[in-house]
Amino acid sequence: MTPRKPMIAGNWKLHNTIAQSKELARAIAAHVGQGLACDVVVAPVATSLSAVREAIDGTAVGLSAQNTYWEDSGAFTGELSPLLLLDAGCGYCIVGHSERRQYFGETDAGVRKKVAALLVHKVVPIVCIGESLEQREAGKTLDVVLGQIEAATDGLDAVALAPLVVAYEPIWAIGTGRTAKAEDAQEVHQAIRERLGELKGQSWATSVRILYGGSVKPSNADELLAEPDVDGALVGGASLSAKDFIPIIDAGVRRAES
Ligand code: PEP
Repeated sequence: MTPRKPMIAGNWKLHNTIAQSKELARAIAAHVGQGLACDVVVAPVATSLSAVREAIDGTAVGLSAQNTYWEDSGAFTGELSPLLLLDAGCGYCIVGHSERRQYFGETDAGVRKKVAALLVHKVVPIVCIGESLEQREAGKTLDVVLGQIEAATDGLDAVALAPLVVAYEPIWAIGTGRTAKAEDAQEVHQAIRERLGELKGQSWATSVRILYGGSVKPSNADELLAEPDVDGALVGGASLSAKDFIPIIDAGVRRAES
């Protein structure tokens, strides 16, 4: 049995009205109930956080934001803060998603500040890292990914980082239908865990959950989750329908029980 509780997280990106978010959250909450052997988290758009919070109330489904700023408050028009995310009921926040890095100028330094600010407020960061196709083809995958995780955790020790979740998401696999081979995902996950062990100590590195993201669907979830260092999944497209997301949750439960 894995020493780490698996996690299945759904990133709804810029999708779903409040009504649609509520309906999806209710269907997931009905399946999860008081809790399963794997953690389940959903990340709706900010405008739906409050409705989803109500829909999952009393169940074990966790609520996540998709992004944050690092200051608590101030003259930062358009931003959200860890303090306000906590106030809105978020236990988690995705940080450094490749879409934010690619379209919104998110940098490693900014990711590091966001991670630190979230940890201060006890909101669990789900830190996304991953290489582009060009970088993979140039044999730079590990350099890129290990550099990103090192930067995101720089100056933070294992005590501060305790609840952190890492999501390895090869950019070429996000929303493309192309999934990393399970053994390739395992190779990168193992390298991430080893580097975290060197940097922060083995004990924390053994406990940190490393999710895989990139076109995870019901048909490939079991194979990916069978790898020893793949502790769950961050799911985009397939998290938008309960019909697809629930079987992925069930794959997480099977991993916990294997
Ligand atoms: C994501 O956006 O985090 C993601 C993994 O998307 P998809 O599952 O659609 O590839």
